[in-house]
Amino acid sequence: MQKIGIFGGTFDPIHYGHLELARCMRDQLQLDEVRLIPTGLPPHRPMPPVSPAQRLAWVEAALVGEKGLVADDREVRRDGFCYTFDTLREIQAENPQALLVWLIGADSWHNLPTWHRWRELLDLGHLLIAARPEYAIEAENSRLSPDLAEEFAQRHVIANTNTLSQGKISLLSSPLLPVSSTQVRDLLSRGEDVSALTPVSGLLGQSGLYRF
Ligand code: ATP
Repeated sequence: MQKIGIFGGTFDPIHYGHLELARCMRDQLQLDEVRLIPTGLPPHRPMPPVSPAQRLAWVEAALVGEKGLVADDREVRRDGFCYTFDTLREIQAENPQALLVWLIGADSWHNLPTWHRWRELLDLGHLLIAARPEYAIEAENSRLSPDLAEEFAQRHVIANTNTLSQGKISLLSSPLLPVSSTQVRDLLSRGEDVSALTPVSGLLGQSGLYRF
C-alpha cells in the first residue's frame, strides 16, 4: 500500500526542525513520499506578514535534493481558511488506495481540540506526534484535555511499519529539536546569522523580510 506523509505548517520560515522531522518520518516508517504543505490562510493564528507564495518558495528551495520530500501548494492556492480536515480529505480522494500518515508537533497536538472537525480528522489517517522541547508528550499527558487524552488512550499504538493504520496515533521517535520559526524571525530581525537554524538562510537574508 502506498504511504503518503503529510506535514502541514505555516513554515514562516521553514527551519531544520521541520526538515529533520520530515526525514525522520520518511525513513522510520518507509513512507513513499512526505508532502510539506504550507498553509494559506491559517485558521489558528493571524495571517503571517510574509506571503503564502513566498513561504512556499522557501519550502521548495529547502527540499531540493531531498529524496521523497515534496512541497505541495494546494493550501497556498486555496481561497479562504485552510483546514487540515479538507486537505487530508482532498489528498485521500486523489489517492484512494493510499494510507495518509500525518505529522504534528506536540504543541499542535495539545491544541488539537480547537481544530475544525478534530475528532473526525483523527479518522482520516495515522497521526504522528513529534515531541518538542517543553512539550514532552508523555510527561504532559496529564495536562491534556480529557477528550484528547481519551482519544490518545483509545488510538495509541507504537509507531512502526507494521502498525501504521488509519485512525491510529503514535509518537514519532525523533530527537528533540530546539528550533522554531519564531526564533529564526527574532534573530533575523536583529540582523543575526541563522545559517545553523534553516537551510534557506541565504534566501532569507537576500529577501530582507523579517527585518523590522
Ligand atoms: P512558530 O515559531 O512561528 O510558531 P513553528 O516553528 O512552530 O513556528 P510551524 O510551521 O508553525 O513552525 O510548525 C509546523 C508544524 O511543525 C507544527 O505542528 C509544529 O508543532 C511542528 N514543529 C515545528 N518545529 C518543531 C520542532 N522543533 N519540534 C517538533 N515539532 C515542530
